[in-house]
Amino acid sequence: MLVYKFGGASVKDAGAFRNIARLLSALPQTGQLVVVVSAMGKTTNALEEMYQQAFRQQDFSEGWQRCRQYHLGIVQALFPDKGASVYGIIENQFQALQQLLERVEPQEFDFQYDQIISVGELLSSQILHHFLHQQGLATHWLDCRTCLRTNATWREAQVNWTQTETLIQETLPSLLKNNIVVTQGFIGGTGQGHTTTLGREGSDFSAAIFAYCLSAESMTIWKDVPGLLNADPKLFPTTICYEEIAYQEAIEMAYYGASVIHPKTVAPLAKKGIPLYVKSFLNPQEAGTVIKNCRHDRIAPAFIVKQNQCLLSFHSKDYGFVTEQNLSTIFQALSEHRLKINVMQNSAISFSVCTDYDAARVQALVENLQPEFQILYNQPLHLYTVKNYDQASLDAISEGKEILLEQRSRQTYQLVCRPAPLPSES
Ligand code: ASP
Ligand code: MG
Repeated sequence: MLVYKFGGASVKDAGAFRNIARLLSALPQTGQLVVVVSAMGKTTNALEEMYQQAFRQQDFSEGWQRCRQYHLGIVQALFPDKGASVYGIIENQFQALQQLLERVEPQEFDFQYDQIISVGELLSSQILHHFLHQQGLATHWLDCRTCLRTNATWREAQVNWTQTETLIQETLPSLLKNNIVVTQGFIGGTGQGHTTTLGREGSDFSAAIFAYCLSAESMTIWKDVPGLLNADPKLFPTTICYEEIAYQEAIEMAYYGASVIHPKTVAPLAKKGIPLYVKSFLNPQEAGTVIKNCRHDRIAPAFIVKQNQCLLSFHSKDYGFVTEQNLSTIFQALSEHRLKINVMQNSAISFSVCTDYDAARVQALVENLQPEFQILYNQPLHLYTVKNYDQASLDAISEGKEILLEQRSRQTYQLVCRPAPLPSES
């Protein structure tokens, strides 16, 4: 039993769909396979934009039409038979999307977000299922909302593992006997039948949930890069590809913001010792990277950049020390406003945290804590992390930067600085 995850870039145009069909047709007939797919290309961003417009009572029709044309254009390129059922399915999905957007209410932003943004994966998985079927592969389209059970924390739903495991184990094995199961990444469902999402880029995590519940032999993330790289090639001019790294290493890289794997993905695989391959869908015969149980004493430094950061510092109003009681108040408020701590540091009379900058959440937090603390904040900033650093990598990363906060442990170096040109730009 294998689980394959295809991201947005691997279904961005008709050629990309044909590439997947070729890749799957080359597999030995004997294995069972679950295919988890993301929304096509930049569809999720486009849906977010349409929803923002609808929420602000603005006209969303141009974006909706563009998105519809994009999907139908690919369907036309893939299905010469204009009577194929996929045409009607995609049109219906866009009608439903339009109705959802027309009925957007000015409250419950996060709930409506999930109902609308999830459409991207429903579309891509339908097109992929129908296309593979047309190419002679036996496939079954699974609406994963029926078995990937979550709570109702909209936009960041928490998986109910017990129910999900039961539902997946009840549903999938019989389907897998004769079919490749094609399903959606990123989305899930509550017991009440509402759609939820697992957080942006959550499709990797969806695939890991299926792999865990089915005790898969391995999971593969198919990407447009050769494997797990030590830096984002869009930001750094030179990168290297790891051949093999330990689960722990990959979990930490994802935690610090390496964008190649969603942070929650590796833990469920590590629990069952399921190897995770990261491979290029452009060169499927190349080995890529394997993340598994292994030990390496020395691996190449990894460079991770988080942009759009905010550095908040809290000072007690009377020049008193920042006490544990104060820290507890600050942590409580960060958690309530859903601001994640990326780095923190304390001194006698102040406490600083670096978080992703979300204007509304930061503003609400500041208002909430202003009666108790004097609060300063700085944004936009960059957070650089170097894992497994050496002197050369430290020198390279800190050169010419205006550093606002710096922290170093035995393996990891982090700095928060004002936006400086990224290595690829300088
Ligand atoms: N389509 C979703 C996103 O772009 C989920 C994913 O691609 O993993 O965030
Ligand atoms: Mg994506």
